[in-house]
Amino acid sequence: MNESRMPAIGIPRAMLYYRYGALWEQFLQALGVSFQLSPPSSRGILETGTRLAPDESCLSLKMFMGHVDTLVGRCERILIPRYSNYGYTELFCTRYEGLYDQARNIFRSSGQRFITCNIDAQNGSPEAKAFELFGVELGFSARQSRRAWQEASKALKQKQKAEEQSQKELAAKPGMKVLIAGHSYILSDPYLGMPILDCLVSSGAVTLRADALESETARKACAKFSPTCRWIVSEEIVGGVLHWKEKADGIILVSAFPCGPDSMTNELLIRRLKGMPILPLVLDTQSGMAGVETRIESFLDIIRFQRGDMV
Ligand code: SF4
Repeated sequence: MNESRMPAIGIPRAMLYYRYGALWEQFLQALGVSFQLSPPSSRGILETGTRLAPDESCLSLKMFMGHVDTLVGRCERILIPRYSNYGYTELFCTRYEGLYDQARNIFRSSGQRFITCNIDAQNGSPEAKAFELFGVELGFSARQSRRAWQEASKALKQKQKAEEQSQKELAAKPGMKVLIAGHSYILSDPYLGMPILDCLVSSGAVTLRADALESETARKACAKFSPTCRWIVSEEIVGGVLHWKEKADGIILVSAFPCGPDSMTNELLIRRLKGMPILPLVLDTQSGMAGVETRIESFLDIIRFQRGDMV
């Protein structure tokens, strides 16, 4: 492809795209920068990522590298924001922090150019500053970049509010309800999490998601439950579970093998949420939907029995 006709930026549709993608897209749109997303996840993308990523990587990181691979040679630069922290007690999983450098290393012989946006408040680069520098690197003034970030932040908040509102309406519906908790990039991934959500819906369950809650509300709820939880996204998931659990008949905790933060927070939830049926599901590169479907069906039978829908 002729480089001048390529989109300026390629965005891997994986990992934090599902959490902050609205922010990144709106920022680029506000500046008039063209961008392209990688295609929706598939078995082929996961297989490529598994081959490219270091063996000890979690499933999400393997999927991410597969997405990066689909963009190589198809855009001028691939955007991989580096999310490190929002402050001393507000940390992200270290895998997000290393993504940009890891991808540059894995694809070093491809000639592909990469660009980052470095969110690291501990080292003088809070989100506002990071996006200002990112905009400047794209060729815009600091003022234009700041304005674009403000618009983009507003868009992200509005999206989260809308998701929370539509879930409120769902929670008010009659019938068996299952709360599904996990990282947005697992739950919303068409190859990893969406088949689980589809399975629940086709089994007649109303499905609520722990991540459909504004970040601030979720993190406040988590702080009361576990003041020492270290990771922002984990706080949001735990807070989402605590917020929505009263509306649900059971909870499914979905995580990617081998996820360090989930192994701690899921254990905490299982130990402390007494009296609520909880099904932990750990996905890995070998997970097939047949085994997962059987476990979900048995879990739903337990819920039906507890609700008195089954005798
Ligand atoms: S939080 Fe877990 S699944 Fe997500 S990147 Fe970190 S280790 Fe992987």
